[in-house]
Amino acid sequence: MTASVIDGKVIAADLRARVADEVARVKRDHGLTPGLAVVLVGNDPASEVYVRNKHKQTQAAGMASFEHVLPAGVAQADLLALVARLNADPAVHGILVQLPLPKGLDTETIIAAIDPAKDVDGLHPHNVGRLAGGLPALSPCTPLGCIILTKSVHSSLEGMDAIVIGRSNLVGRPLVQLLLNENVTVTIAHSRSRNLSELCRRADLVYAAVGKAEMVRGDWIKPGATVIDVGINRIPLADGKARLIGDVAFDEAMEIAGAVTPVPGGVGQMTVACLLVNTLRAACAIKGLSAPAV
Ligand code: NAP
Repeated sequence: MTASVIDGKVIAADLRARVADEVARVKRDHGLTPGLAVVLVGNDPASEVYVRNKHKQTQAAGMASFEHVLPAGVAQADLLALVARLNADPAVHGILVQLPLPKGLDTETIIAAIDPAKDVDGLHPHNVGRLAGGLPALSPCTPLGCIILTKSVHSSLEGMDAIVIGRSNLVGRPLVQLLLNENVTVTIAHSRSRNLSELCRRADLVYAAVGKAEMVRGDWIKPGATVIDVGINRIPLADGKARLIGDVAFDEAMEIAGAVTPVPGGVGQMTVACLLVNTLRAACAIKGLSAPAV
């Protein structure tokens, strides 16, 4: 049996097109241009690539994009002052502070300073708490993308068994909450879990968000399961370049699973598309409009 490949590129492009249509509609009908502000501190090369990509895609969707680049040595008070200005700016509906922050800055304090209504990364304790309480909330983008990819295979997830490997605040924990909202039965595993391969073999839905190249092997996977690989691992090549591979042994998974996301070209594609969704949702909520149809 060969699994089908879940094409994150196509699914993300479709989502971005639907966001652009809704942005055009709110502009036309309500004079609202959703605006996203991204704050980059320092010059981490990977973060610079992400921020450039966010800027391009935000503009392509017809939204306003505001970029703020601060030096790595910026004082915490100055970063907090920028966040306060963005909170007060009516043209800004979404604020994203690119993580990780350089040493010397307290991530928790910075995140807590963002207006929860503009917290498009879904990391403010207000949104984390609402999501955990099963209430509507701005939710982290990567887990939102995982749910959309899963639903491209299964229109309803109700009653399915899932395993989420990894319990980070950015991916694993919010993903569990989103799966619960879909009436999935969820196991959350981490570095102290015992018998991980056995736990995994029970799952109809496997989410790997660990950061360990090809940790999930083919014989961990239940026949026909849907496998969503969040991991991004850079494997250096002899020519000095790097190859990206996931947390799942892709070729082995393709032999047994029902559907698998590739790396690259899977979850990674969805994260920015979901950031656009969150910005549009935040803008509509702030303006008192009903939720957009995306
Ligand atoms: P993280 O904060 O480092 O968390 C990793 C999680 O994996 C932790 O909960 C850790 O358990 C668990 N873990 C570590 N070793 C394990 C093992 N041997 N068995 C089972 N669990 C183990 O990472 P993250 O931010 O969630 O990211 C995870 C991966 O996703 C990374 O490769 C990252 O690059 C990628 N990522 C991709 C996107 C995207 O857009 N595609 C977005 C975000 C992250 P403990 O809690 O016990 O330490």
